[in-house]
Amino acid sequence: MELRIQGLSKTYANGVKALDDVSLHIPTGMFGLLGPNGAGKSTLMRILATLQEADAGMAMLGDPGSEAGTSLDVLNQKEEVRKVLGYLPQEFGVYPRVNAQEMLDHIALLKGVTNKRERKDLVEALLQKVNLWEHRKRRLSGYSGGMKQRFGIAQSLIGEPRLIIVDEPTAGLDPGERNRFYNLLTEIGENVIVILSTHIVQDVQELCSNMAIINKGRLLYAGPPDASLRAIHGRVWEKTIAKSDLERYAASGRLISNKLIAGKPVIRLLSDVSPEDGFAAAEPGLEDVFFSAISKGNLEHVNA
Ligand code: ADP
Repeated sequence: MELRIQGLSKTYANGVKALDDVSLHIPTGMFGLLGPNGAGKSTLMRILATLQEADAGMAMLGDPGSEAGTSLDVLNQKEEVRKVLGYLPQEFGVYPRVNAQEMLDHIALLKGVTNKRERKDLVEALLQKVNLWEHRKRRLSGYSGGMKQRFGIAQSLIGEPRLIIVDEPTAGLDPGERNRFYNLLTEIGENVIVILSTHIVQDVQELCSNMAIINKGRLLYAGPPDASLRAIHGRVWEKTIAKSDLERYAASGRLISNKLIAGKPVIRLLSDVSPEDGFAAAEPGLEDVFFSAISKGNLEHVNA
């Protein structure tokens, strides 16, 4: 399975260019779409989930090497795409008075699993898979954030989808819930395409073999996280500074990030050579890739 996106653009009626000529190749496995709030991630997710129209571009879903005619045109063959699609939206509306088992049964029926016995087996298997079997009789309104997200994944898996889209699934989860959710996604991502949109760098770091960084509708980087780290290796520098110096460094154009550690700003710069006394070479992390990409507006220095 692979998804090929070519020249996708979308401008909203208010003039906001949410996607600007985005082209991406997404293979089987976990793919991270990383960007800050407002970057255009949900717009891209909704277009791929056939819920929104693009202004221009195309997206083809198919098996690599197969004939062009056997691929699905995601933007135009919506009904066919929905049959192979699992979608977990950013806001998953749940029905407070219904328990997980009833709700999954209902969704399975809506998705065309009409045989009662088959549906029962399916719902049981899904509840076991996402580790909610014990809680199957509990009302969804009483679920924690992590349980709701695992329920959301269970419903997205009905119909054995080959393309799964999850929009900001870990926002609001505590670290334990996030880990359980990671484990679940990892299991699922082995044989299908899972596109995970997130503003949380750790999500991509832990899960994804390929990623893209977008900001203001533009694609800034596409490739494996490892390659992006190698590209900035030896060019990240760190120093603890006085608060009063922060502005000067920010104006230098090389600032990647600043964090307060024990009340003092610790800054990171991207520079080919050692910036000045007091800076130590730092091990680059994906956060450095992300922040340098979005602060510069492009990753030419990373891709170089
Ligand atoms: P993200 O998911 O990365 O936070 P979105 O795709 O939700 O980004 O939004 C991208 C940009 O498009 C933002 O500037 C947002 O305000 C704008 N936007 C999103 N939806 C709409 C809409 N329905 N009408 C107008 N502007 C929108």
